[in-house]
Amino acid sequence: MNESHDPHLECWVRSAHNASTDFPIQNLPFGIFRRAESDDEPRVGVAIGDQILDVTTWLSEGLFDGAAAEAAARCALPTLNALMALGNEAISALRRGIVAILSTDGIGYENFKRLGDACLTPVSGAQLFAPVKVGDYTDFYASVYHATNVGSMFRPDNPLLPNYKFVPIGYHGRASSIVASGTEIIRPRGQTKVPTSEIPTFGPSRMLDYESELGFFVGRGNTLGAPIPIQRAAEHIFGFCLVNDWSARDIQAWEYQPLGPFLAKSFATSTSPWVVTAEAIEPFRAPAFARDAGDPAPLDYLSAPDDQKNGGIQLFLEVWMQSAIMRDQKVPAVRLSRTNFGSMYWTPAQMLAHHASNGCNLRPGDLLGSGTVSGKDKTERGCLLELTWRGAEPVTLPTGEQRRFLEDGDEVIMRGYCERDGFARIGFGDCRGIVSPAAG
Ligand code: CA
Repeated sequence: MNESHDPHLECWVRSAHNASTDFPIQNLPFGIFRRAESDDEPRVGVAIGDQILDVTTWLSEGLFDGAAAEAAARCALPTLNALMALGNEAISALRRGIVAILSTDGIGYENFKRLGDACLTPVSGAQLFAPVKVGDYTDFYASVYHATNVGSMFRPDNPLLPNYKFVPIGYHGRASSIVASGTEIIRPRGQTKVPTSEIPTFGPSRMLDYESELGFFVGRGNTLGAPIPIQRAAEHIFGFCLVNDWSARDIQAWEYQPLGPFLAKSFATSTSPWVVTAEAIEPFRAPAFARDAGDPAPLDYLSAPDDQKNGGIQLFLEVWMQSAIMRDQKVPAVRLSRTNFGSMYWTPAQMLAHHASNGCNLRPGDLLGSGTVSGKDKTERGCLLELTWRGAEPVTLPTGEQRRFLEDGDEVIMRGYCERDGFARIGFGDCRGIVSPAAG
C-alpha cells in the first residue's frame, strides 16, 4: 500500500467527504465521459465525490510528470484500453499524481479556481460511456453456493459436478453486446420448450433474470503460447467493475446441453461505468476461500501462498429493484439481496491464471466475470432463479406485486462497495438497466 490509501487524506472537492459517496480520494476509479451537450470527444475521467476529473486538461496544464505524465497522455482517448495496457505500476504513478492534485495541501486547488469546469465536471452534467472496448469476454462460475443451488434444482442427487473443486469453470461470452449502465435491456426472443410439450416454440423469454457478478479487466496481456503463472496473475488485473449478466432461463434450459450457454446470455451484459483499480482494492484484500477439510487442495498451477493469503476481496454486492408501478408511485427501489465476495471458491488470480494456462492470450481490456455471487443464506442469492427457487417462492415487492422473474419495466440496480475498519469505504457506482418489451 502507499500514500493513496491513507484514510486521513483530505480533498478540496467537498463532496468527496460525504459519508455516502462511493468515490472518496482513496478510490479514484477511471471511466469515459464527456460534458453533456458538448462537442467534446469522450475521454478518460476520474470520479471524485460527485465530480469527474478530466485527466487530459490537468496534463495540458503541466500538473503531471514522469510516469504519471506518460500514463496521463493515454487519457485523451474514448476507451481505457491504451491506459490499461501500460501495466499497474504506471497506473499507480498516475493515481499518486491525481492524489497530489486533489489533496487539500496539494497543487490542484489554485488551478481549479482558474479553470473551473474545464478540469472538473459535475457527474450530473456529464454523459458516461462504457469504459472499455472489450475484445473478449469470459464468464466464470466461481461461487460454490450458486453452483450448488443451481445444480440442486436440475440434479437434486448430484448438485455439484465432480470437476467443480478442481477447475475454475467458465465459458466464452459475447463481447459485442456488453453495454453501459443505463442502457435499456430488450427482452430476448428465443426457443423455449415447456415440459408438457413435445416441441419448442419461438417467442419472448418468460423467465428473464439478472446475475450479480464482479467483473475484472485485464491490464497488461500475455503472448499467445505463454501462460501467466499464478504468482504473476494479479499484476495482469487492471481493475474491477460490477456486471449484470442478464440471463433468459427458459432459453438456457432448452439450449445449454451439450455445449453450454449461448443465446440465453448473449443478448446483453451491463457493466458499471467506473473501473476501480486493483490498487484501490489493496486495503480490502482477504484470504482465499476457506475450503472444507474434505475439499481437494488447488493444483500447483492454481496455488500460490500470497494468493491464498491475499487473493480474496472483502467486497459486498447488493441487488435492488424498482418496478414500473413503483416508479410511477414514487416507491423507492427495494433491496433483494446482499452478499459478500468471500463466498467465491476461486480468486480472480486463479481464474485469470487458469484462463491463460493453456497458452490462451489475454489482451488489455478483456473482461472476466466472476459468475453470480451468491452466499449461503437466502438473502445472499445473486439472481432470481435462486432467490425464488425457479419461481416456486416469489418475491413480494412493496406494492404487493410478485416477481418470479423480471417483468417489462423492471429496473435492476446493482451496487458494490468495500469497507474495512481503519480505511475509507470505496464503492463502484450503480450498474443499472430497465427491461423493455421484446422487439417485434
Ligand atoms: Ca453469469
